[in-house]
Amino acid sequence: MADSSDILIIGAGPGGYVAAIRAAQLGLKVTIVERSHLGGVCLNWGCIPTKALLTTGEVFGLLSELKAFGVNAGAASFDLPQLVKRSRAIAQQLSAGVGFLMKKNKVDVVEGTARLIPGLVAPIVRVERENTLLRELIADAVILATGARPKPLPSIGLSPDRERVWTYREAMVPKRIPATLLIIGAGAIGIEFASFYNAMGASVTVVEALDRILPNEDAEISAAAQKSLEKRGIRFVTATKVMGSERRADGVTLDLESADGSHTRQSAEVALLAVGVIPNIDNIGLEELGVEIARNQIVVDSTGATNVAGLYAIGDVVGAPWLAHKASHEGVRCVEFIAGTPSPRVPSPVPACTYSDPQVASVGLTEAQARDIQGNIDIGRFPFRFNGRALSAGHTEGFCKTIFDRETGKLLGAHLIGAEVTELIHSLVLAMSLGATRDMLSHVIFPHPTLSEVLHEASLAAGGAPLHM
Ligand SMILES: Cc1cc2nc3c(=O)[nH]c(=O)nc-3n(C[C@H](O)[C@H](O)[C@H](O)COP(=O)(O)OP(=O)(O)OC[C@H]3O[C@@H](n4cnc5c(N)ncnc54)[C@H](O)[C@@H]3O)c2cc1C
Repeated sequence: MADSSDILIIGAGPGGYVAAIRAAQLGLKVTIVERSHLGGVCLNWGCIPTKALLTTGEVFGLLSELKAFGVNAGAASFDLPQLVKRSRAIAQQLSAGVGFLMKKNKVDVVEGTARLIPGLVAPIVRVERENTLLRELIADAVILATGARPKPLPSIGLSPDRERVWTYREAMVPKRIPATLLIIGAGAIGIEFASFYNAMGASVTVVEALDRILPNEDAEISAAAQKSLEKRGIRFVTATKVMGSERRADGVTLDLESADGSHTRQSAEVALLAVGVIPNIDNIGLEELGVEIARNQIVVDSTGATNVAGLYAIGDVVGAPWLAHKASHEGVRCVEFIAGTPSPRVPSPVPACTYSDPQVASVGLTEAQARDIQGNIDIGRFPFRFNGRALSAGHTEGFCKTIFDRETGKLLGAHLIGAEVTELIHSLVLAMSLGATRDMLSHVIFPHPTLSEVLHEASLAAGGAPLHM
C-alpha cells in the first residue's frame, strides 16, 4: 500500500523546500524526496558556499590596502583548509536548518532517489536507495524540483578524477590554489570564481564564446566589469570557442578558435568549466509519462503545470534564469495554485546578481532591450566616485544606470556595478514591482550618507537634473 500525501515534492533545493514549507502553511500534507542534501545546489554547492569563499577573497584583498586606511598590520597570508572549512560549515549549517524547517512544518522527508510511474490522479513516485525500492508514494499533485547540474562541453569533457578540469564542485573545495587557472565561461559563476581565485593569487584567464563577459547584463556594465577585473589582473579572451583540450599530468592545454577563425593554444595548471547548467530530467521516468520537454527543459505553464495531469515542475529544471530566488518564487506560486489560494499577482521582475569584486546587479530591461521593446527611453547614470559614503568607505569604482519609459515615466530597468550593489538592487526591484516612475523616485528621501543615494541621483540624472554631478 503506497503512502499518500496532498503534495509530493521531488528535490529539496530552494524550489522544492520552499514549496514544501508554503504547502504546509496552507494546511496540506507534504512529502519531500531528496537524494543528496537538503537545500539543493544553492545551499550546498552554489549560492552560499561561493559567497563564503568570496568573502575570504575580499578580506584578503582588503589587507593589501590597509595602509591607505591608516592601519598597519603584518604580512598577510591565508590558510586554505580553514577557508574551505568555513565555507563548508556554513553550507552544512544551512542544510541542517532546512531539516529543522521540514520538521517544524511537519513535512515528511524521504531520503532517496525518486522515479515516476503513471498513476491515476497524478504520477506514482517510487523512491530507491542503493538500487533498492524504499517506498512507493502517491499524492494529489507531484512537483518536480530536481534542479540542474554542470553543463559539459563536448570539446573538453570531464576527466574522471577531475584533477585538471574542474566543475564548480571541485572549484569550491580546492586542495591548492593553482598557479594558473583557465576559466571557460564568463557568466556569473565563471566571473565569481575568477574573482575569488584572482584574489587568492592565481593567474586567471577567462575564455568566453560570446563577444563580452556577463553577456546577460547591460553591455555598458559588461564593459565596465571587464575593465575593473582586468585592472585586478584577470585576463579575458572573448569571442573565442574551446575546440579541443589536452590533459597532461601537470596541466591542461585548450585549443581556442576566435571569431576571425584564428587558432591559439592556452595552457594552465587547471581549467574550470563554467558554461552553464543542464536540467536534471534524466532517469525520472519523464519519457514513459510523455512529459513535454523542449531544449532539455520541462515545459510548464505560468502555474508550473506540465502537460501531464497532476504533475508540476519548478526551478532550474524548467529553465532560465537559473537562480535560487526564481526557483523559490515558482515553488510558492505553484503550491498556492494547487491549494486553490493563488496570491494576487505582483509583476515582480527577477533580479540578477554577481558577487565578484566589483559586484554587479541588475533588474528589468537592458538598454538594448528597452530601445528595442519600448523605443523612447530616458537613461540616467551616476558614478560612485561622487558619493560621499562610497568615498569614505574607499569604494569609488562603478555606477548606477537607470532606464525609464519616456512616455509613462515607469522604471524599466536598473544596472549597477560597484561595492554592495547586490544589496542596493532590491530597492529598485521593489520600485519596479510597484510600478514606480522617475518622478516618484526623484521625490523619495534617501538617507545620507549612504551608497543608496546613487539610486536617487541616477533617477534624477534620467531627467537631466542630478544634484551632485
Ligand atoms: C557555483 C554556483 C553559484 C550560484 N550562485 C547563485 C547565487 O548567488 N544566487 C542565485 O540565485 N543562484 C545561484 N546559483 C544557482 C542556484 O544554485 C540554482 O538556481 C538553485 O539551486 C535552483 O534551485 P532548484 O530548487 O531548482 O534546484 P537545486 O538547488 O539544484 O535542487 C534540486 C535538488 O533535487 C535533488 N534531486 C534531483 N533529482 C532527484 C531525484 N530523482 N530524486 C530525489 N532528489 C533529486 C538534487 O539532489 C537537489 O538537491 C548558483 C549555482 C552555482 C552552481
